[in-house]
Amino acid sequence: MTTVAFIGLGAMGYRMAAHLPKHFETVWVWNRNFEKAKQHATEYGTQAVELSQAVQADLIFSCLPTSQDVDALIDQVQIKSGAIWIDCTSGVPEAARALSSKLQQHNVQFLDAPVSGQTIGAENATLTFMVGGDADVFAQALPAMQAMGKLIKHVGESGAGFAVKAVNNMLMAVHLCAAAEGFTTLKAHGVNLHEALDCINESSGKSGVTENVLPQRVLNRAFPLTFALPLLAKDTGIAVDLVREAKLSAPIIGLTQSLIQAANDTAAPDSDFSAAVKMYESWSKITLE
Ligand code: NDP
Repeated sequence: MTTVAFIGLGAMGYRMAAHLPKHFETVWVWNRNFEKAKQHATEYGTQAVELSQAVQADLIFSCLPTSQDVDALIDQVQIKSGAIWIDCTSGVPEAARALSSKLQQHNVQFLDAPVSGQTIGAENATLTFMVGGDADVFAQALPAMQAMGKLIKHVGESGAGFAVKAVNNMLMAVHLCAAAEGFTTLKAHGVNLHEALDCINESSGKSGVTENVLPQRVLNRAFPLTFALPLLAKDTGIAVDLVREAKLSAPIIGLTQSLIQAANDTAAPDSDFSAAVKMYESWSKITLE
C-alpha cells in the first residue's frame, strides 16, 4: 500500500493535496503553519503529521515558493530510503540536478514536477505537470500526479520540468506586458476596451492573457491574489538565467524580466501577478477598465 505525503499547503498545495485521499488510503500533510495542516485534515480526510513523519511516505510531494526553500527543508530531515520526492515548486533547473544527485546517495529519487493551471486547476485536478527526471521513476509517480492533473508529461532529464515551467511563465509575462501596452494604447485612442477585447479574442492577437487575465482580473479591477507577483518575478528570473547559461541572445525575455522585476519592486504588498499592469497605468495615467 502506497503512502503519500504533501508538504506545503499554500494556494496550490492546499487544493492539490485535497484530491489525494480519493485515490490513496494514507495521505499525510505537513505545513510550516501547522494549523493549516490540521484544517486540511478536518476538511479532506488527510492526516496532519510532523515533518519527520511526512518524509517517511513512499511518495512525497512538495510545493513551496522556491528551490531554496525546498533545499533548506530537505537539509533538516532524513527521508525514507526508497522514497520518491516529487517537487511541484516552480524551481531552478540547476537546483533540481544538485538535489537529485544528493538524494540518490540516500536511495531517494527526485522528480522536478512543476505545475501549471493556477489555483482553479489545482481545485479541479486539471493541472498540467511538466516533469524532469528518470523515466522509470516518472512512471512510478504517475498515478499520484494523475490524481491532481490532466496533462502529465515527462519532458526530459532532471531540471527539464523546471526549465519548461520557467519558459512557460516567461511567455505569459511577455503576453501580459504586451497586452498592457496594447490596451493602454487603445484606451488613449478612445477605444472601448471591452469591445476591443471581444474582437481580439476572436483574432490572431489573442493569448491566455487576453482570454483570461484581462477579463477576469484587470478590466474588472478585481486583481484577486491567487498567484503572487513576486513568484512570477522569480520565474522570469529563472528563465533569464537559462538564457544566460546557454549563452543565447533573447532580448524580449531580458526586457520582460526587467519590466516584471520593476513592477514587482513598485507593487503593493500581496499583489497578484496581474497587478503588474498597474506599473503601465502609473506611467500613462490610463486605467485599464
Ligand atoms: P503560497 O505562498 O500560497 O504558499 C507557499 C507554501 O509554502 C505555504 O504552505 C508556506 O507555508 C510554505 N512555505 C513558504 N516558505 C517556506 C519555508 N521556508 N519552509 C517551509 N514551508 C514554506 O505559494 P503558492 O502555493 O502560490 O506557490 C507555490 C509554488 O507553486 C511556487 O513555486 C509557485 O511559483 C508555484 N505555482 C503557483 C501557482 C499559483 O497560481 N499560485 C500556479 C503554478 C505554480 P506557510 O503556510 O507556513 O506560510
